[in-house]
Amino acid sequence: MDWFPIFLALRDSSALVVGGGAVALRKTRQLLEAGCSISVVAPHCDREFQAWISEHRVSYGAVRFEPEMVVGHRLVIAATDDPELNRLVAQSANRFGVLVNVVDDPALCSFIMPAVVDRSPLVIAVGTGGRAPILARQVRAYLEALLPSALGRLANFMGEWRASVRRHVSRPAQRRRLWEHVARGPVAEHLFAGREADAHRLMTQMLDGACVNSQPIEGEVYIVGAGPGDPELLTMRALRLMQQCDVVLYDRLVSQEILALVRRDAERIDVGKRCGERGWSQEQIHQEMIRLAREGKRVLRLKGGDPLVFGRGGEEMEALADAGVAYQVVPGITAAVGCAAYAGIPLTHRNYAHSCVFVSGHNLDDAETDWRRLAQPGQTIVFYMALGRVATICDELRRHGLPDTTPAALIAHGTTREQEILNGTIATLADTAAERRPGPPALLIVGEVAGLHERLRWFHSDRAAASHEPSAIGEGRDRLEMTRGWPDSPPPC
Ligand code: SAH
Repeated sequence: MDWFPIFLALRDSSALVVGGGAVALRKTRQLLEAGCSISVVAPHCDREFQAWISEHRVSYGAVRFEPEMVVGHRLVIAATDDPELNRLVAQSANRFGVLVNVVDDPALCSFIMPAVVDRSPLVIAVGTGGRAPILARQVRAYLEALLPSALGRLANFMGEWRASVRRHVSRPAQRRRLWEHVARGPVAEHLFAGREADAHRLMTQMLDGACVNSQPIEGEVYIVGAGPGDPELLTMRALRLMQQCDVVLYDRLVSQEILALVRRDAERIDVGKRCGERGWSQEQIHQEMIRLAREGKRVLRLKGGDPLVFGRGGEEMEALADAGVAYQVVPGITAAVGCAAYAGIPLTHRNYAHSCVFVSGHNLDDAETDWRRLAQPGQTIVFYMALGRVATICDELRRHGLPDTTPAALIAHGTTREQEILNGTIATLADTAAERRPGPPALLIVGEVAGLHERLRWFHSDRAAASHEPSAIGEGRDRLEMTRGWPDSPPPC
């Protein structure tokens, strides 16, 4: 290790910044955040510097740098575009034993400033010894995305309880287990969800001995939307909860690729219904979630798309609320939104559609279906669960006034490598679907916007490549691979 990382207390210290441009400004901002007082030496200062000077947040030292100016400061930053001056600043600092950083010249530095992930009091510093600052910044971006923003709240909370835990739990190994449990378990979850009082209550219970061997004393259910298929569409929160659950109850719509991201040693329960098989009833799912949570387990209820859009998540919340079991809900990208984006179909568009309705294809046979309200010009209609009803839907929409030329698209396996899109109009799509027979899950989009697919499509699946869609082969695959890579996007934990 060429550079030893330390954290400096700068609250009652001062730093000298030589230079008044953009780089000096950036360094000064970082130092101000650490509570350091700053004196700047430069013939001209950027506007923001001038504002800080007039607000007395920064003091203006002098126009010209003199070697003795470094005396009395804890740090010196040389951020001018004059290499000779930067060298003089470094020499002066070394002579008087003051730490010095020369921007973009590690050879002249006695300290370097890392890229920082700030979840104060938790702070992560990333450095490359000045060799590849861009790489350090990318690692920082990756960590930023991965770490919950409320981690600082957890660190503060643990700090508040530290003395008390030390008093109550004398054995270090037991204390360590307890803290591990706090950082990964329901206490942290309460804090991340903004339930501070519950976190304190749980902590009190744990210390009162209600928690044997620091096992969780109460479970929780995470009702999580897994999105339409592409694992990259998971939210950070979904991924985090997937990583920390003890057991997962998942639906048919959740892909193997996404399941692979669930904590490896979590128990897996497939509650989905498959063709020809009898799946679990909704009531059985409720009872199982309640039973597992009461055993103290962290139960992940993983559902396709968004749990509250045609996903029966509402019923599950009701059952849990009635049973007094804690739960939280993580929204997912619903199929309509995901499939439309990957098909190049804007659901609304100033020139074509001012409203959009999501309809379940299941109840369309009911006499109550208000076809006239659906068949409005300037409206996009997205039909879920409509695969077997494309002909009926298109016929009804035509009968209720939509012109035969209204574009329609059927999207199967949207957002995945298997994505298949059938295009047409409400007069032609049913025949195309009968001929091509796409498999479930599939979504039907009707409206002028569906006609934009040909012009705006950007995502090309393997299936598109196999069916020789002109621009699909090769390029699409590369793009898919690229989006899965690091560091453009963080890998699974
Ligand atoms: N809660 C889910 C919807 C569940 S209903 C959500 O918010 O997306 C199941 C229906 O969703 C399927 O019949 C199909 O119409 C649609 N669907 C889900 N995933 C899909 C996908 N990847 N491609 C196309 N349609 C999908």
